[in-house]
Amino acid sequence: MTTGAARCLRQKGSSVDRADAVVIGGGILGASAALHLVEAGVKDVLLVERDGLAQGTSSAGAGFIGMWGAGYIAAWAGEELEMEEYGLSFYAQLADEGYDFGFKRNGNLWAVTTEDTWRNHLVPLAASSRVTDKRILGPEEIEQMTGIVSAAGVLRGLLHPSGGYVSAPLATLALADRFRRSGGRIALRRPVDRILVQDGRVIGVMTDQGRIASGIVVVACGAWSNNLVRELGIWLPMVPLVASRIITENLNLPASMPTIMFPEFAFIWLREENGALLWGVDYNCHPHAAFVDGALPERFDQLPLDGVLYSQQVGTQAAVAIPVLLRYRSLTVAHGTPCFTPDQRGIIGGAADITGLYVIGGCNEGGVSHAPGWGRLIAELVVSGVPSNPVADAFSPQRFSSDFQRGQDVLEALHGGWGSRAPESDSGAEMASVETRGV
Ligand SMILES: Cc1cc2nc3c(=O)[nH]c(=O)nc-3n(C[C@H](O)[C@H](O)[C@H](O)COP(=O)(O)OP(=O)(O)OC[C@H]3O[C@@H](n4cnc5c(N)ncnc54)[C@H](O)[C@@H]3O)c2cc1C
Repeated sequence: MTTGAARCLRQKGSSVDRADAVVIGGGILGASAALHLVEAGVKDVLLVERDGLAQGTSSAGAGFIGMWGAGYIAAWAGEELEMEEYGLSFYAQLADEGYDFGFKRNGNLWAVTTEDTWRNHLVPLAASSRVTDKRILGPEEIEQMTGIVSAAGVLRGLLHPSGGYVSAPLATLALADRFRRSGGRIALRRPVDRILVQDGRVIGVMTDQGRIASGIVVVACGAWSNNLVRELGIWLPMVPLVASRIITENLNLPASMPTIMFPEFAFIWLREENGALLWGVDYNCHPHAAFVDGALPERFDQLPLDGVLYSQQVGTQAAVAIPVLLRYRSLTVAHGTPCFTPDQRGIIGGAADITGLYVIGGCNEGGVSHAPGWGRLIAELVVSGVPSNPVADAFSPQRFSSDFQRGQDVLEALHGGWGSRAPESDSGAEMASVETRGV
């Protein structure tokens, strides 16, 4: 065959591939769904990604993993805890298999500077019986354990010793590699244009390199998921909100430090990465809500840095407790768009009226922690139709009322209306509301 003829065969619509299941989206949720499908016995699973693996929000995640449902995030309950427990043991096993994805189990530490913050934010966490080895720490112990929090700047802390972190992009690559080794196929740089449906059943997807026939399609496109399902008359009530991760130059930080979160200083979060400080805050200023009901770019490299400038402002204030925030001289930034739902819980399950169509999304900035559990849940739903536990209802795509027709409706449910105001400038930025904090 001549080169010209081969090229011709790759033209749109000219070739038909087949798979038992197609997963669209090579972020951490898609990689986990694909892996769990193949491990649940689905023979030919094809993961299709328009770009490279881990190029979307999974490139920017901070990667904290822990038991957030044990009283830290009010909207998360037993179902999230079940996902989180499974996630922690899943990542530990992946690391035991020899994958290097920055997995560390140094603990999750929350710290406060005032009694009020302790009362308002950490009492439920301290009272929860779900984490039996949790410990309350005094200022000296916090300084010793973290190496970066000053004893003089904090009042008290709470430690979950078995929490930790991973590199979100490297974890995505590890999941994808295990998927491939288990017999899965990955097609990169192959955007899906449409999901094909006939007589109420999924029959495949159309890509820019031809059709892929399949009776099972899992949409794992993160913030772009609605672009694909909207044409089918479906709108998933979730809004993409920009969040940013900052990494400094190597500051020789101790590799043993736990993740650190303050329910103050705009919910600042920090951890060590190769000696550098990886950190961020929950900001509400531009471009946080820039893509609600608007077109989302395919990559985030060119996003405005207002939120990062605001983060630096907050960092300067937080230096009373974390002096290293005045010491760095260099930074790199990555942005992502975690998707928030009205009740802040994931959207995982089958479509009501289209047999064979599934979605895994609505990460609420907890997708790294929940990816293994949600991937397992999707696989259970696909293989048996009935998951082996009752968690599916909590994440069901059908649980929302018809009140949510646009991103703005979701935003208002989340924030009690702040989203309807014009985006704030960096100097006028206000602290993030409790309701939207992720991990
Ligand atoms: C600053 C920040 C901090 C965070 N911190 C944490 C944390 O500490 N802990 C935690 O658990 N979570 C955290 N998160 C959230 C976590 O990173 C996300 O939940 C997770 O990465 C979302 O993964 P995803 O697979 O849903 O989306 P994505 O990674 O965005 O993947 C979607 C993929 O779909 C592809 N795609 C889209 N449309 C198409 C198409 N038509 N055809 C083919 N492919 C398509 C995209 O290219 C993309 O690769 C954080 C996020 C950010 C931004």
